[in-house]
Amino acid sequence: MKEPLGATGLVFNESLLWEKGRKGRTGFSLPRRDVDPSPLEKGLIRKGPDFPDLSELDAVRHFTRLSQWNFGVDSGMYPLGSCTMKYNPKTNERQASLPGFAAAHPLLPADLSQGVLQMMFDLERYLSEITGLSAVSLQPAAGAHGELTGMMIVRAFHQNAGKPRSKILIPDTAHGTNPASAALCGFTPVPVKSDERGVLSPEYAASVMDEDTAGIMVTNPNTLGLFEEHIKEIAHIIHGKGGLVYVDGANMNAVMGIVSMGDMGVDLMHLNLHKTFSTPHGGGGPGSGPVCVRKDLEPFLPVPRVVKEDEKYFLCWDFPKSIGKLQAFYGNVGVLVRAYSYILSMGKELKRASQLAVLNANYLRIKLTGIFHLPYDRPCMHECVFSDKMQEQDKVTTLDMAKRLMDYGFHPPTIYFPLVVHGAIMIEPTESESKETLDLFVEACKAVAEEAKNDSALLFDAPTKPKARRMNETEAARRPCLAG
Ligand SMILES: *Cc1c(COP(=O)(O)O)cnc(C)c1O
Repeated sequence: MKEPLGATGLVFNESLLWEKGRKGRTGFSLPRRDVDPSPLEKGLIRKGPDFPDLSELDAVRHFTRLSQWNFGVDSGMYPLGSCTMKYNPKTNERQASLPGFAAAHPLLPADLSQGVLQMMFDLERYLSEITGLSAVSLQPAAGAHGELTGMMIVRAFHQNAGKPRSKILIPDTAHGTNPASAALCGFTPVPVKSDERGVLSPEYAASVMDEDTAGIMVTNPNTLGLFEEHIKEIAHIIHGKGGLVYVDGANMNAVMGIVSMGDMGVDLMHLNLHKTFSTPHGGGGPGSGPVCVRKDLEPFLPVPRVVKEDEKYFLCWDFPKSIGKLQAFYGNVGVLVRAYSYILSMGKELKRASQLAVLNANYLRIKLTGIFHLPYDRPCMHECVFSDKMQEQDKVTTLDMAKRLMDYGFHPPTIYFPLVVHGAIMIEPTESESKETLDLFVEACKAVAEEAKNDSALLFDAPTKPKARRMNETEAARRPCLAG
């Protein structure tokens, strides 16, 4: 293949700022003092923290070098399945840092916060239109938090009807947060097997659904990147026994403007704004996981809610059936601004973004067939799942290949998830990548697969080019170093 991407630049070693500091060095100069220091100031200086003395250039180089040790969407392709590592347009950052948003204090009265309240109100309307569900809460701080909120609403719905239920159906392809969120709400998760085509079968759903089951929690498209094509029929079965259909909407990037969740029989769902609606999230947060519900579940949504009356926006707490408040203030507002900016700048093109995300994934599916094993060989949505079965005879695993891809300048795909595929390699290119980049990725995968066959020692040693070599995967959890 051509020269590998991104692995040939200079990566400097970098010491701690405390090791670099030199007494008396400074990053600023103030006018010469023409008064005596005040006693108060002297006291403060003596008790101050032990900051290193640095020049401005020391500090700039330090943080620039540290940033080069990292990998992000802005430096290369990041095909981390299920995470939607799409490009985050810089205009979103600009809007989120406008003083009216960034400096808005959450305790300001509504009269002085009309702009931010209107932004939240309008964003709820947009998300409602995109999902086909009628009401939205922007409060949850992440996808998993949205799931918890959704499960609390499901529980409240059944309690309100006077018939609390104890179980919830969860497909075997689900993200681990799904059963965790359900269990936190007191439900017993009941695993539902996917069929040989990687989707749920209505017959099986019917065989496990009963009147003590609160509903089903299903990811659509699912984590194999496949559309749950029987969802309408399954929703009918769940509703027939009085249950609710919850959708984990983490994979919404495949179906924006194409599928109405409401029309599919979905009662409630969460979105991951940081995934689908473009907020940088490689570092772990902050995120936002709004919950969207059908009309009759609206009274259970968290309080406070943004309400509009007589052309004025305010926060209303007067929803007696609400599950309560789940987050400090009103959610991660900075992420809301980014999503609002993204949706406004994309408009109807959101649909095209989804179409291109699906096209890119299918392009990779075809190009990588024969390089990696493809357990579910049919058109996929926005991501597709391979395995290391073809490399088994050479004793090369998914982990080895993922590490080796780093030497070729790519972030590894998601590995060993979903659990139903042994040695899973889950690739989500997103709509952001050009054909040239996808082709380069295919070349890199091809080179890695060749090495697996002919020179597997290269893979066991990988990665060799990044700053850090292969990590001990459990050391940080077993022996955490919290002292810094
Ligand atoms: C990312 C993801 C989640 C969890 O979302 P967070 O925002 O990370 O809490 C849940 N389900 C699926 C399918 C996901 O991909």
